[in-house]
Amino acid sequence: MAFKDDCAVVAEALAAFEAESRAGRLRVINQVPMREMMGRLDLARLIEGGGLQGERLRRFLGEYLAASTRLQHPGYMSHQVAVPQPASALAALVDGFTNNAMAIYEMGPAAATVEMAIVNWMLDKIGWRPQPLPGGAAPDGVVVGGGVLTHGGSLANLTALSAARARVAPESFAEGTPRNLVIVASPASHYSIARSAGILGLGQKAVRHAPTDDGGRIVAGRLGGCLARLAEEGSVVLAVVANACSTALGLYDPIRAIAEVCGDAGAWLHVDGAHGASALVSRRRRGLLDGVELADSLIWDAHKMLRTSTLCAGVLVRDGRDLDHAFREDASYLFHDKDQPGFDFIHRTVECTKSALGLKALFALAAEGEGAIERTFDGRCDLAEAVADHLAGEDGVEVAVKPQTNIVCFRVAGDDELQLELRRRLTQAGMHYISSTEAKGRRWLRLALMNPATGIEDVRSLMQEIRRHLADIAHEPQGKT
Ligand SMILES: *Cc1c(COP(=O)(O)O)cnc(C)c1O
Repeated sequence: MAFKDDCAVVAEALAAFEAESRAGRLRVINQVPMREMMGRLDLARLIEGGGLQGERLRRFLGEYLAASTRLQHPGYMSHQVAVPQPASALAALVDGFTNNAMAIYEMGPAAATVEMAIVNWMLDKIGWRPQPLPGGAAPDGVVVGGGVLTHGGSLANLTALSAARARVAPESFAEGTPRNLVIVASPASHYSIARSAGILGLGQKAVRHAPTDDGGRIVAGRLGGCLARLAEEGSVVLAVVANACSTALGLYDPIRAIAEVCGDAGAWLHVDGAHGASALVSRRRRGLLDGVELADSLIWDAHKMLRTSTLCAGVLVRDGRDLDHAFREDASYLFHDKDQPGFDFIHRTVECTKSALGLKALFALAAEGEGAIERTFDGRCDLAEAVADHLAGEDGVEVAVKPQTNIVCFRVAGDDELQLELRRRLTQAGMHYISSTEAKGRRWLRLALMNPATGIEDVRSLMQEIRRHLADIAHEPQGKT
């Protein structure tokens, strides 16, 4: 029963880690140099000699957790990675143990069924028709949605854009990508869009900038003209990419208006909802995605705002056939095979062996029901509004935009280098962990308020620490001001 005993060791260590982190007295981030870490963890000896059980396991976890970034710490405000619902971590354990690589049904019937349920739950939230279960084909002429879960939003974007390519230039998969394909996106789009363009053979230069306002939001009224000019120059639009929301500032593009322009132009609309599609669970905020049902595809990371352990990202399409064609031209044999007890997701993904990603999202949702996820989402967005108001009232602080989600960008009086220097000092001290970003042509300090344990008082203490660093900097001989 060594496994059960070791589970108890792990559970105890994690519970202590969580309690210590929540209390907020230790550092949220502690970057022990790798060279030193290697020794502390005694890795070479463990690999050679083994023995990572019982007391040795307990000691190892002590060292490991001491140098782990504490997402449960109220000072964790940096990246868009969920503070997982603890149950979601249990799902990761079950998945790791059973190791049902469920991309084909026979390798994980339960896991594949859970993935189907999560995909259909997401489709339903968007307003697309859920996929019928095997044996229950949709009535003739009815378009049903489709989806798959991938290891992260970057891969999800690549997968959705592959589906778009299969519709717009179906010969691409076998013959190579035509030279005149372009993607139209805001300059504020996530870098995985440009990376996908490179991987898909369009080249990164094929990402053309959509007309935007100074917050990087697409101006729908000028998009039609942009698409017409591209058509005149002989370009074919693979997809228009809208942000829901953007990574840096957390702003939503006006999806309905963009969808109408795309509809007129016959262009595929892809919505990058990696972070912000979770507003679909919020009755108060789903209007931010108004018109999303008119899009062709959407991606949605559960490991950002659905409190799911990394990774679990949904690739969702209005017409499921588009996804079936993403990686092969002739997918007709996939449909309506009534003899199959289940559904093989393998045709829809880059991955071959695939984790039971849906289980982590399921455990996060099912721990307390989706209402709890909605409350957390709304709570973090409400906090962001309060934080933005608070910061805007501070002397010498500028807030980039009124937040639409749980992301707040601000800067203190001074140049870009000063903002970076402040982040360096905060990270070094380790009590507040924030990020920084470029937007509107300048450098900002950025808060992603992911943690249900973070409150306005934590932002006040962050500002106090920032003021202390500013005073230090001002008193240094070559003070940066
Ligand atoms: C985070 C993010 C991504 C990338 O998702 P990963 O899961 O980190 O690969 C893509 N697009 C947007 C808008 C994001 O915020």
